[in-house]
Amino acid sequence: MRIVLVGPPGAGKGTQAAFLAKNLSIPHISTGDLFRANISQGTELGKQAKAYMDAGNLVPDEVTIGMAKDRMAKPDAENGFLLDGFPRNVSQAEALDVALKADDVKLDAVLDLEVPEDEVVKRIAGRRICRKDSSHVFHVTYSQPKQEGVCDVCGGELYQREDDSEDTVRKRLEVYHTQTEPIIDYYRTQGLVVTISALGKVDEVTARAMEALKGDK
Ligand code: AMP
Repeated sequence: MRIVLVGPPGAGKGTQAAFLAKNLSIPHISTGDLFRANISQGTELGKQAKAYMDAGNLVPDEVTIGMAKDRMAKPDAENGFLLDGFPRNVSQAEALDVALKADDVKLDAVLDLEVPEDEVVKRIAGRRICRKDSSHVFHVTYSQPKQEGVCDVCGGELYQREDDSEDTVRKRLEVYHTQTEPIIDYYRTQGLVVTISALGKVDEVTARAMEALKGDK
């Protein structure tokens, strides 16, 4: 399956993507994770991306689209993938369509995670991410690790993303509304959008998502 996951920052895209990708046996491709890996490795691409990310803005398409396409061209993504955080604007969605068409494949679904705005802010403010594996996500009240500051899964150090500060979150939400939300209409015209509520326990949302995707298999 080829799936795009959309939703505002804090909707739980990363958390859900990790579970869904595992259930569906497809790679989880997160452009945010790819940027963060480049930043921690000190690559040129990471240096280019960092200032945009810290400000809550989108990294320019020239950098992002090439990086996403390179990742999708890896052998593990040949038979499907779950895109998390890409595309994030209409021109990226168009570039993705062109790339898929060149490979003579299509998206199966666009899963839209819906969550009220006040919930988003609460979720992001308390979010803590593992330094070793950013798909290991915790929350200071909703999903506490057994030991404070330590990842339950791999023992990595938990930290708060720099772009999870309140001001940057507001900026990211604005960017989501103005630039990313229009892709939902773009995909709606292709009949691909499945919307689910992202409220509730992590496993409940995963079950809801799997059920919603069933019709698209
Ligand atoms: P995420 O981990 O998906 O929340 O992404 C974190 C940040 O990485 C975003 O706020 C953007 O600055 C950048 N980013 C991730 N994916 C994209 C994308 N598809 N286009 C542009 N910027 C992106």
